[in-house]
Amino acid sequence: MSDEFADIEAVMKRLPQPTLDDVLRAQREAENTPPPVTTMPQPGFHPGGIVRYHCPFGCGWSHDENPSLEPTGPLLLPANFTSGNISDAITSMAEVRGKAYARRVEQAIADHFESAHPER
Ligand SMILES: [Zn+2]
Repeated sequence: MSDEFADIEAVMKRLPQPTLDDVLRAQREAENTPPPVTTMPQPGFHPGGIVRYHCPFGCGWSHDENPSLEPTGPLLLPANFTSGNISDAITSMAEVRGKAYARRVEQAIADHFESAHPER
């Protein structure tokens, strides 16, 4: 391991680790959460991490996303943070990115509908 990550590793080792119960509870909560309402069609997955959303009317238009290229922001943690704070911060960041992603795709589809299928 390089020295660059030694400090982070040392901090992580001192933190209380999530228990199996914590992990199982989080999984159950995730499974019981209904998916958000969206106009996003089921995407196709292509080489290079491309996620392609085709027009539901089959006109040939599509919108591409590459989730692996999305920037990640800094994790916002309180002083004296715990492993729970890290977990919450990661979850929160994922929710923010997920909402921004959905908004972008939904807006692209709405713009396409407006220009190509105004009669729909
Ligand atoms: Zn279309």
